[in-house]
Amino acid sequence: MLVGLGLSAWLIVGGIGAQRSASQTISFSQVLKKVDARQVQAVTVDPNGKLTGSLRDGTSFTSQVPTALGQNDLYRRFEAGGARIDATGPGSSWGTVLVSLLPVAAIFGLFLWWGRKAGSQVGALGAIGRSKVKVVDTERPTVRFEDVAGYEGVKREVGEIIGFLRKPDRYRRAGAVGPHGVLMVGPPGTGKTLLARAIAGEASVPFLSVTGSAFVEMFVGVGAARVRDLFTEARKLAPSIIFIDEIDAIGQRRGGAVVANDEREQTLNQLLAEMDGFDAAEGVVVLAATNRPDILDPTLLRPGRFDRQVVVPLPNQGERKAILAVHCRDKRLASDVDLDAVARSTPGFSGADLANLANEAAINAVRAGRVRLTRDDFRDARDRILLGLREGSNVLLPEEKVAVAVHEAGHALVAALSEHADPVEKITILPAGQSLGATEQLPLAERHLLSDSWMRTFLAVRMGGRAAELVVFGEGSTGAANDLSEATQMATRMVREFGLSPALGPVGYAPTGPMYLGRDQISMRQYSEETQRMVDAEVSRLLREAEASAVEMLTVRRRELDSLSGRLVAEETVDGVSVYELVGRPVPVRHLDGEHNETKDPRHSAA
Ligand code: ADP
Ligand code: ZN
Repeated sequence: MLVGLGLSAWLIVGGIGAQRSASQTISFSQVLKKVDARQVQAVTVDPNGKLTGSLRDGTSFTSQVPTALGQNDLYRRFEAGGARIDATGPGSSWGTVLVSLLPVAAIFGLFLWWGRKAGSQVGALGAIGRSKVKVVDTERPTVRFEDVAGYEGVKREVGEIIGFLRKPDRYRRAGAVGPHGVLMVGPPGTGKTLLARAIAGEASVPFLSVTGSAFVEMFVGVGAARVRDLFTEARKLAPSIIFIDEIDAIGQRRGGAVVANDEREQTLNQLLAEMDGFDAAEGVVVLAATNRPDILDPTLLRPGRFDRQVVVPLPNQGERKAILAVHCRDKRLASDVDLDAVARSTPGFSGADLANLANEAAINAVRAGRVRLTRDDFRDARDRILLGLREGSNVLLPEEKVAVAVHEAGHALVAALSEHADPVEKITILPAGQSLGATEQLPLAERHLLSDSWMRTFLAVRMGGRAAELVVFGEGSTGAANDLSEATQMATRMVREFGLSPALGPVGYAPTGPMYLGRDQISMRQYSEETQRMVDAEVSRLLREAEASAVEMLTVRRRELDSLSGRLVAEETVDGVSVYELVGRPVPVRHLDGEHNETKDPRHSAA
């Protein structure tokens, strides 16, 4: 109820704003600036994206929302700027998307309010069902496989779909069933959407795309109707491709949830029915993407539905380079830019992160009045993406700055002094995002196997920050919490999964997966209380040993510790080479493809 009142209040605010005749029309980027500056009090958006807003100073403005903008991000941005958003009328896709992001309570309030406003709930529902909400995007992509870097295996796997879409008749004449549904599984930003569009581009067929969450609305029956419309449209345009992003929003396992979601079940059932109703030669292929295959309802994966799964993983080093190259095609690079090195310094980046990196590097160059992108442009861009946007100056208190410098110097020294550690690349005490400082290590090569010695070194390096605090100040601080949690996770896996604890012996218990509230997840532990106690004791021993070895190293090298932390306080950033010079050890040499660099551990060959 309260929520309902709140909503009415917004409308009144919006209404008053809109009535003033002196409202000025501004560009959408100006709107965002005002939002960021917290000048905007409330905005209303109509179904055509016309935005009317009121400022805190009492004036109003109008603008046009560009259609290509990510609505979720926008919503967050408005929220962060303290601006309230209202969508006028149920016909607005902005409205539905924004509203579906509100907490359940708010949706409930809205529901009541709309229901009352429309006189009856049925009236309101009917209006929405019939409204021209645009959830399906239809296009004819010009993207080709060559625009998708790497993933040769994936491209081969989906190659058959292209053949089928080009000549569905061939399948019919041979009495063959064409590919029906392909599920692409992988983390966000790995190019699943891009691949799907490239398939459509290669086959030159229409591409109808939707997002799972857009289907699951708060009003029962709408999602199912939309699925029906989607397939009808696809058949009309056949041969064609339907792409469902975030299919997990519709296709979650049924029955396990605490609160049944009728709407989702109806939508899912409709999807299953449509897929079953396919005629082999109709020439409609459904591609779907998810990063949570584990929560999908098994019925979705049955033959004739999404019976093929293609894994789209994060790109490896070579693929990262190829993706960077694609995104640098239209950019001029200075001679000091080495895309190999950029690829090496971005493990864990998705294709989207890399695209973002190339763009940020270009923006850096523009800011500096250049057209050529330099190595530093790439470095800065990477740091920004990696650590979140740098907030101007160093906001630490002076004594905190010293503490952070000591902590980071500890990590760096332990790493530089350990034979099996990944080489130290850079240390900084510039606060960025969540972290106060960072010690960056770059692996010599992509790793697929971790040796016992590498993992023990990892533990010691993670402990290095806290150990330095102990050595210098005689006490720890909250700054090590993240290090400790990473170290504890690693130590636990060493003991439970990798058989690296002499006390437990060569046992490997399966990793504990994410826990669901479902039926069949009653007991997670596979061993006795006694074993659990032993695991705890062994994890604690490994961590204590790691801490002791870090403390010992830093006590012996106290002079270097003080000198490095002093330099960090003065310069804020120190490169890895200086750390090796300081401790008098050679800088580890990098080899291009990692064929020769070895951890000198005879049990493992190079990864
Ligand atoms: P997903 O659908 O897996 O979340 P997207 O397809 O939306 O990822 O990828 C986002 C962007 O990242 C793409 O538009 C493209 O610019 C870039 N990208 C991702 N993977 C690749 C790749 N293999 N080659 C080139 N660009 C890529
Ligand atoms: Zn740390």
